[in-house]
Amino acid sequence: MKTEKHIHGQESCHNCRACACAHGHETEAKNSWNKIIWAAVLFAAALAAPDFLWLKLPLYVASYLLCGTEVLLASFRNIKAGEVFDENFLMALATFGAFAIGEYPEAAAVMLFYQTGERLQELAAGRSRSSIVKLMDLRPDFARVIRQGKEEKINPQDVTPGEITVVLPGERIALDGIIVEGEGHIDASALTGESRPVSALKGKEVLAGCISLDGTLQIRTTKNYQNSAVAKILELAENAANKKSAAEKFITRFARIYTPAVVCVAAAAAILPPLIWEDAPFKIWFYRALIFLVISCPCALVLSVPLGFFGGIGGAAKNGILIKGGSYLERLAHIHTLAFDKTGTLTQGVFEVTGIFAANGVSEQELLRLAATAEQGSNHPIAKALLLRAALPQEQAKTPTSVREYAGEGLACQEGNTQILAGNLRLMERFHIQGAEPAEGTCVYVAENGIYKGRIELGDKPKAGAQKALQELKTLVKQTVVLSGDNPSAVQKTARELGITHAYGGLLPADKVARLEELMKNAPKGSVTAFAGDGINDAPVLARADLALAMGALGSDAAIEAADVVLMTDELNRIPAAIRIARKTLRVVKQNVVFALAVKAGVLLLGVVGLANMWAAVFADVGVSLLAVANSLRPLYFKE
Ligand code: ADP
Ligand code: MG
Repeated sequence: MKTEKHIHGQESCHNCRACACAHGHETEAKNSWNKIIWAAVLFAAALAAPDFLWLKLPLYVASYLLCGTEVLLASFRNIKAGEVFDENFLMALATFGAFAIGEYPEAAAVMLFYQTGERLQELAAGRSRSSIVKLMDLRPDFARVIRQGKEEKINPQDVTPGEITVVLPGERIALDGIIVEGEGHIDASALTGESRPVSALKGKEVLAGCISLDGTLQIRTTKNYQNSAVAKILELAENAANKKSAAEKFITRFARIYTPAVVCVAAAAAILPPLIWEDAPFKIWFYRALIFLVISCPCALVLSVPLGFFGGIGGAAKNGILIKGGSYLERLAHIHTLAFDKTGTLTQGVFEVTGIFAANGVSEQELLRLAATAEQGSNHPIAKALLLRAALPQEQAKTPTSVREYAGEGLACQEGNTQILAGNLRLMERFHIQGAEPAEGTCVYVAENGIYKGRIELGDKPKAGAQKALQELKTLVKQTVVLSGDNPSAVQKTARELGITHAYGGLLPADKVARLEELMKNAPKGSVTAFAGDGINDAPVLARADLALAMGALGSDAAIEAADVVLMTDELNRIPAAIRIARKTLRVVKQNVVFALAVKAGVLLLGVVGLANMWAAVFADVGVSLLAVANSLRPLYFKE
């Protein structure tokens, strides 16, 4: 695991308190607390010491240097690197100034409080990161592998596909695989957010990261650790923080302009009034300028915005929603049009054969056999249903050769010398097959060597809870649409059941893209058009949408890759949940920005009229930062 991840993507941690890495170095953190304690002791000693400058000054300077050296060095480094104006520079300038006008306690206190605030913020940021990393509890520590009849405990990364691993009750499954021995229940909540245990029977595929609750399972691994769903999810979660939202980018840019502007204003405040008015002593205005500098540290903003997003991403993850970055979280909150794929997204994607209509002279059995033979090569839910129904005996289950899948149409393959086609009418047209007629519902038409053999009718039901989720969504987004490759009549039926008014069927993957683009064109400018699919036959449209949501990521790698937001359970109610979390997060971020700016403006005004001293300034800065950080952590605890 890479520990050095920065929200700001900057090279050095010292410039980037907003990074959520918590600096990862425990000893360093302990040292800095020690430093702060020593500095506080020296500071107190200085305050208590008898009123001799030769006694007080060295104590203040020592306290100052203990806490401030890091800031001074960072400022110096940045100046050398050409980045003059940052918060370190503001602090250095303000405290040097304070020394210059003999305000020693203030100078030392500024650094002392600043460092204390820093450390506390780091703690908070680390907390937030560790919650995201909680997802990473998923990471299996070891795998028990059976090698040469003996059980060995080894690193999951060293297990090769095909080896047999053993998982005891209470242990985490280390690698994706298929259960070959034993049964029980597994807890997939870390992956899906779904706390109900799932039964694990022989022959079932299980994923790394799940916990075996009550059974001892022997699992034949099917993938390397690197290719497992867990490894991918972890990678995504770790990278999520690097994809900056517009708000975060804005803050970074803002700080770059803001800080020099502040320095200029402070300089003007120090120099101009004494020049203009005779009774405006330079010392007082200089002091006020210094206060101004300290107040204007943009720490709270720079820190809390990315942290807020980070919290939102973490909170979503806890609810089984993986958001790949702050920018997607922003878009989630602003969805205008939400288009759905049908099969596997709105519907269970579990088809059942509801009718078999064999052509003259063809038996139902033969028709099913042909269809199932072709579908062996496909992952489509239709294929699964046909295979299940046909239940081909071993000797008949010949693997077809040169299988070609036409997305949104079906399959063509070769079995020995026969060519088999299985798909919809469009596929029949493509191969100029005579005799296939339009029918209601979802149908698979079958042809052998160019001769039509009949059709198999399939039914698919909406997912449990789909209706409720759609109802909820209607209050959250402006428009819902179905874009499906399935038979238009089947699509209309599903849409009606779910209360979706706009439904388009018979679309090829490319048509889906065209329809989506049309929807985008008709949506107001700057609004977000999202597409939710299952990754089967809809990768192009997922890629084209402003925001791609994928279902059932646990199965489909393609979905994890193509989507911006991955819903780890197949449940549709994760979509409204995701939108609500995103909106709450944005609200928190906004609160932080407004609050920080308001408090600063307030103290600034007080400072200008001479009512706030340096202490108030420091409290305003550190206090606001801490409150903002605390607020930023709230999204982590959003419960849906
Ligand atoms: P949806 O957009 O509803 O998810 P798809 O794009 O996955 O639907 O598929 C559209 C249509 O293409 C299906 O309804 C089916 O008629 C046909 N089809 C796609 N793949 C297959 C397959 N493997 N076997 C048979 N028919 C298929
Ligand atoms: Mg589909």
